Parts: sequence; C-alpha cells; structure tokens
Amino acid sequence: MGSDKFVTRHIGPREEDIKSMLEAIGVSSLDELMDQAVPANIRLEKPLRLQDGLTERKYYRRIHDLAKMNKVFNTYIGMGYYDTITPAVILRNVLENPVWYTSYTPYQAEISQGRLEALLNFQTMVCELTAMELANASLLDEATAAAEAMVMMHNGRSRAKAKAGANVVLIDENIWSQTLDVLQTRATPLNIELKVGPVHDFVFDDKVIGLMVQYPNSNGEVLSYAHLVEQAHAVEAIVAVATDLLSLALLTPPGEWGADVVFGSSQRFGVPMGYGGPHAAFFTARDEYKRIMPGRIIGVSKDKHGNRALRMALQTREQHIKRERATSNICTAQALLATMAGFYGVYHGPEGIRGIAERVHAIAVLLDEEISALGYRQLNQNYFDTIRFALPKHVKREDIEWLSHELEMNFRYFDNGEVGLSIDETTNLEDINWMIEVFAKAANKRYPTITVYPEKGNIDPAFSRNTPFMQQEVFRKYRSETEMLRYIKRLEHRDISLTHSMIPLGSCTMKLNAATEMLPLSWFEFSSIHPFVPKNQARGYQEMMEELRRDLAEITGFADVSLQPNSGAAGEYAGLMVIREYHISRGEGQRDVVLIPSSAHGTNPASAVMAGMKVVVVPCDERGNVDVEALRQKAEEYQDTLSAFMVTYPSTHGVFEASIVEMCDIIHQNGGQVYMDGANMNAQVGLTNPKRIGADVCHLNLHKTFAIPHGGGGPGVGPIAVAEHLVDFLPSHPVMNNGHVGISAVSAAPWGSASVLPITYGYIKMLGADGLTKATEIAILNANYIASQLKDTYGILYVGENGRVAHEMILECRHLKANSGITEADIAKRLMDYGFHAPTLSFPVHGTLMIEPTESESKQELDRFIEALKAIYEEIQSIIEGKLDKEDNPLKHAPHTSETVTSDDWQHAYTRQQAAFPLSWLKENKYWPPVGRVDDAYGDRNLMCTCDPVESYK
Ligand SMILES: *Cc1c(COP(=O)(O)O)cnc(C)c1O
Repeated sequence: MGSDKFVTRHIGPREEDIKSMLEAIGVSSLDELMDQAVPANIRLEKPLRLQDGLTERKYYRRIHDLAKMNKVFNTYIGMGYYDTITPAVILRNVLENPVWYTSYTPYQAEISQGRLEALLNFQTMVCELTAMELANASLLDEATAAAEAMVMMHNGRSRAKAKAGANVVLIDENIWSQTLDVLQTRATPLNIELKVGPVHDFVFDDKVIGLMVQYPNSNGEVLSYAHLVEQAHAVEAIVAVATDLLSLALLTPPGEWGADVVFGSSQRFGVPMGYGGPHAAFFTARDEYKRIMPGRIIGVSKDKHGNRALRMALQTREQHIKRERATSNICTAQALLATMAGFYGVYHGPEGIRGIAERVHAIAVLLDEEISALGYRQLNQNYFDTIRFALPKHVKREDIEWLSHELEMNFRYFDNGEVGLSIDETTNLEDINWMIEVFAKAANKRYPTITVYPEKGNIDPAFSRNTPFMQQEVFRKYRSETEMLRYIKRLEHRDISLTHSMIPLGSCTMKLNAATEMLPLSWFEFSSIHPFVPKNQARGYQEMMEELRRDLAEITGFADVSLQPNSGAAGEYAGLMVIREYHISRGEGQRDVVLIPSSAHGTNPASAVMAGMKVVVVPCDERGNVDVEALRQKAEEYQDTLSAFMVTYPSTHGVFEASIVEMCDIIHQNGGQVYMDGANMNAQVGLTNPKRIGADVCHLNLHKTFAIPHGGGGPGVGPIAVAEHLVDFLPSHPVMNNGHVGISAVSAAPWGSASVLPITYGYIKMLGADGLTKATEIAILNANYIASQLKDTYGILYVGENGRVAHEMILECRHLKANSGITEADIAKRLMDYGFHAPTLSFPVHGTLMIEPTESESKQELDRFIEALKAIYEEIQSIIEGKLDKEDNPLKHAPHTSETVTSDDWQHAYTRQQAAFPLSWLKENKYWPPVGRVDDAYGDRNLMCTCDPVESYK
C-alpha cells in the first residue's frame, strides 16, 4: 500500500486525460462543466465537513485499531445467528474474489451462467432440506422473509375471503422477537391483524388467512404442528414455517407435514455472523404459489442452440414491471451470501451436512445431561441445538453471566431468568468443558472433564427425518479442496464482472470496490461477532458506525441516519413508514397519497403500496422532466390526503432538473413530505445534497454510491437519512438498543448488515471531503464525455438546460430498430461479443439503453466502450444499407460462443472473424460467452428451478 492519495487510485482518468475529455466535451474546466450540469440554486456553498482523506496505509491502521476493539467471545446466544466455519476455499475464492463480489444481478443471462449455477445450487439445497417444490435465490433476512410470507398470505387469499375482509394471521408467540417486530411493522399499514399467542389457543375461523409457526421454536423446542396445519387448511389459510436449515438434516422437514411456505436464514451454512449480516434468507413455496412468491427465482432453460442454459425465471412478476401491482418490492437481495451457502452445501454434501447437524445435536444432548446432573432443570423436551435451563434456587443468574464472561463466552438469558445455550459447528471439547465449568462453579459443584466427543442423539422418532436429501450429482462431486477450487473457478470463468471490463449499468453505479476497503471483511474481529452480544464486546463496531452515521448525515445534510435497512428498496419502505408515523403523530393519519413520477424505479410504487399508501403517478414532459404543473395540480387536488412525493435526483433520466426546489416547495405547501430516492447520489456528493434540494428523507444505496460491491445481486445496504423533525421516528430494535426509538424494526438485525459497513467507512475515510467531491465531478465528466462521443450516432435522449447530462445518460436506440429491425436487446447481446456487459436495458424508457460509467473508469476503458458501441452502430448501418442480411447478421445471432465460431459447419452470411473478433483489441482480451442467446419463454413454460428433477418429492 503506497503513500499516495487514494483518490488517484479510485478515479480512472489521469490529469492529462481530464484535459482532453473536457476539450472533447467543449468546456474549459471541470468547474465550468459542473456549472453547466448542476443548477446553481442547489449547489453547496461550503465544502463537506469531513476529515481529509487517509492514505490506504493509514486507513489500514485505523480499521485494524477498530477491529482490535471488538472482543470475539464464543457465543451460544442463538436466536437466529450461529457461529459457523466458512471453508477457506470458499472464503478465499468466493467472498474475497472480485469476480464473485463485483458482478451484477444476472439479468444478462448469457454472461452470468456461473453465478446462476451457484444460485441454482442454493435453491436446490434449500428445496431438498425443506422438502419443498420451489425456492427463490434469497431474501434480505429471516424477519423480512417472514413479512413476505405474511404478505403472500394476504395476496393469496381466495376471492371469497378477500371479499369478506378476512385479514387475520395467527403467529406462534415463540418466534424470534426480531421476526415478530418486523411482522408488526409490516402488518399495520396493510391492515393485517396479527394474533400472537400460544399455538394451542389458536382459533381457526373464516377470518384467518394464515398461520405462522417456528420449528424449532424460539425456545429451541421442537413441537408437532400437523394438527394445526390441518385446521389451517380447512379454512383455506396459508401455512408458513420459519425454520433452521441445519436442523432439517435431522428433523422431519416442514414440506413433509404440509407447510405451504418455509423460510429462514441460511447464515449458519458458512456465512459469518458479522454482527448481524449480511446473510441470505431462504424462501420456499409450493408450486401453486409461484406467481405470488417474492424474490428472484433462477430457472433452467435452453439457449438457441438447444444447450442447457440458466436465467432468472418469471421476470414478469418483478417490481420493475408490475410497479404498484407488484407482490413485493425486493430488488437487491443477498446473492453473494446465497452463493456462499450453496457452495457450503456443495463442499459438505448430504453426509457432511448431516454429520455437522448430528455433532451439534449430540453436544447439546451431552450438555443437557451434564448440566442437569449439576441440579439444573433442562426444559426442552425435544430439541435440536438449543437447551434451556431453569436455575436451582441458590444459583444466581449474575454469577453465570460473570463466570461465562471470564471464560469469554456469551449465553442466552431469557426474561424469566432461564439460561439458554445454542450449540454450533464450531463448538469443541474445550468449549464443552468450559460451559460445564460455568454451570458447576455457579452451583458450587464438582464437575467432570469430557475427553471424547459425544455421539449420542435423542431425537424422538416422531420428529426424525427419514427421507434422503441433496442426492443431486453436484452435492457429490466436489469434496476435495482441489475439486472444489476448480469447480468454483470453472463457474467464475463463465461470468463477466468488473475484473474484465466496465459495467456501464445506468442507475447501478458499478464503481471500484477497492481492495483496501474489502480486506477487513474477513477479519475475525468483524466477522465472528453475534449481533446481540453486550455492546462492550463490539466497541470497534459501535465507534465505526457512530462515525459513519455522522459522515452520512454530513453528506446528505440531514440530522441522523438509520443503518438498519438492507437494500435501497428496504430503505424506501423504512423512509415512507417514518413519514407515515410523522403524519400520525400530528393527528394527520389520513395522509396516505404518494405522488410518484412516471419515470420512477419500480421499487418506488411497490414500496409505497407496502407502506399502505395510494400511488398517484405524475407525468413527465417531452424533455423528460417531471411536469411541474401536473405535480402542482395533483398536490392541490390531494392536499388533505397528501403524504409524500417520491423523487429520484438527479432523475432516472440522467438529468439534474432545475425545478427540484420548486417541486419540493409545492409538496410542503400541501402538507406532504419529500422522499428522495438516493440511488443517484453519486452525482450529488459534495456538490449538492438532499437537504439542500428540499427533501425530508432519503435512502442511500451504499452498494451503489458508497463502494459496497454488488455481489451478483446483493448484499445491499440502504440506510435512511432524515431531517431533524423525523429523527424520533427512525426504526428501533426489540432486542438491542440501537439509539432510535421510533417505528418498530424493519430488519432482523439492529444495525442491518454491519459487517459490510467498513467498506463504506473506508471509502469515505480514504477519499475525504475533497476526494468525494472529485469523485462526483469525474463521474459527471465521464458521463458527459461518453455523451459527447455518441450523441451524433445513437443520440442522447434527455439533457439538462445547458445540454449536459448528470452522471448517466439514456442512449436512443428506437430509430435504429425502426430502420433495421435491431432491438436494444440485440445491441445488449452483441456487446457481449465485444467483451462488455450491457448497459441498463429499457429502463426507464422502453427501447433504450442507459449508460453510467462512474468515476472509476479510465479514459482508455471509456474509449474502448465507445469504440465497441460505434462498431455496433456501423454494423446496424450495414444492415440498413443492405450490406448485412436483415436476419442473418452478427447482432441477431449474438452472443457467439467459441463452439459455434469454431464449428466445421459455419453457415452464416457473415464471417467468423466478424462474429468473434470485430475489433483488433479483442485478440488480447477475448471473453467467450459460454452459451448462446437464452430462450426465456421456454424456461417459463417449463419451469424448473432445481439442479435436476427431484423424484423423491414429486
Ligand atoms: C437500485 C435502485 C433502487 C432499488 O435499490 P435496491 O438496493 O436494489 O433495492 C431504487 N431506485 C433506483 C433509482 C435505483 O437505481
């Protein structure tokens, strides 16, 4: 790590490049370009009040010091988080590997076959362990997965039930308290009535639309719910079961006793606790619910040559298409963590997973016996990994706590004084003896030394699993490290990531994820901390998050920040719920209308509906700007019920609208609040901010603007920042005091995905005020440079008043389609032959491509991309001029695989050279798409979402 300024590594263009790019654009300085692109009335008057940027070396020392302030105890708290061993081959080759962590959500299937296969493995493993038919490729966390299940119960009501206003969901009181809290948050605005109680008290009448139980439950007890399932089904209620995947290696899976939905966390499959996240939640349903099931589903289809090819299935269900009619607002999920969990399953295989489960269970049984022998009463009749003790009269809970802390262990303390232990795969003989020692010393008893690992389980035959699982080939083949390494590499070689070329995805900000920012992620002191440990064991985390909140508040101009939401869309929801609560606190609970421009991202209307609001769409004018008069008219029309205006700034059309301040004023004059979608913050940092434009709340996509990688579709972090009057409404947490006292929780973990926050922390600390501002300026420079090079061929759809774009632009392609039959999708696929990931397709304007280069791309890379697009433009001209066939041309047949190009049977009207090596630099840097164009419709007609058919459950 050199001592030079990090900013020179983070941004792509060199000083001399900047000069020539400014010249090409036709301005004399960066300042002049900023003056033209960003309206004067919203510019910040002063620089950001942040520290100067640290060098990479200095930052490394700082983050290392913070890490040392965290104390890693052995933690037996359980409650949804367990210590786990990430196989090093997965840690090094997936979590620490930029091919896996910098790739994008697999919308472009042909260049995503590796991560699609990894996620298909995850889905298969989840279906097998739960004995369910259909799994998605991850949700944000267990608690929000529960909420998605609840919403599915609501959306899946029969017409008769909906008509009768049935809205009751029965919830097992023994469900994690964070799950219950999130359920309550999500139920209220939708008028879903939660009846929480002991399962034996449940009454199944016509009002009931769903039943949710946890298995094993929050006490660790394994109970039978078969009779409840029957009663629920008798009144057409959907049954959702929260569960622990590992336990299902030994316990009868919920799919075998009638569950309609099974969900939970896959964290303990090799994904570190990380002080709360990120982790992949899994979600399964029976086949009949596939159209209302939330989240992305990976499916098997075929390519145009008839070869097996994977892609995301049933995409028409997604929020970007269905908008306010979407069944869920999930966009970014937890792809990287699901990938890791899937590989964990591949590496261990069915016997390995079963072996881990048996060991965990046997240790719990041994501890049950030994600690009971000391006079404690173990209360769980049937259990997997969790035992629970009532203390003898003379034993004080404080003594146990003190003794366990002396030995650097954390136990779980129930409100009623009981003490719990949840065993995990890391628990070893020494740990076992220490646990016994604590209980013995607290009771003043002598204790034995355990010298051999226990092997005995005691699962009641009534609960014990007797069906095989994970019998597919993939779970048998890769057990040695060498085989595993090669399998991971084989998949990796099929994908395009930032390690190959720029990923110019508009709205997604695929910037550098610097190695120094990423390094701390795998440090023990950050990864091995349970989110519910006493705060004095996580002082490094607490201090880092405190500083990060302050810095993000400074960057947004707002008063405070909640780090809890796990994605941009989760942030939207949280922000709207904060606004809702604010109106209620002022006696204006009737305010429930949200104005949303027609250009908005699909998550905006989807989140608004989830927050119980009514969406009113505001049109844009022919220049792509929000129609201010229409906005005024709607705001006045709804002035008594106006809740909020959701606006993306700069707009999704890639322009800083000069009228933004006026728009915010109109909303405030009519009693509404302004929610700013912060996905485009990369064009604002240091130049303007949400507070300055007049907003009240915004979310930030830390996985866009603030350097957290995309991970092939997650993790994300979507903190919300709010103005002073909204601070009291920020989300709290039922288990840990997170400093906020407002609405109930929106995520399972108190601080969301804490373990990836050091990435953003490092990004801000190393760039500092000047570097952050410079990054924004260069992002705008890079976009305007590309626009200047492509405006005379394709054309740029929208520009601002001075003819400039912001940090991204919409490339016009519709005239080309009209003249040549070549669609924006053909251009996207052809770019793969040139080694590039396509820009954003058909969002926000159908038939176009949206390009966002980011500040991290160098001039030489921008020029390569521009050259590729120009070459494609020439190919299209050749079609128009009749030099290339209208059907048999390299665009319609793109992408070209090495197999087709080297085939002895080449029948096309264009050459192989033209197909695969249309530009000379491809000789040095050729990426071969592993499959030809994927047939989406075939896969949706023949839906298959696991590795191969699972005969045993069909
Ligand atoms: C990415 C994006 C979102 C959604 O963010 P996620 O983190 O994917 O949930 C919302 N709005 C806009 C404009 C976006 O680009």
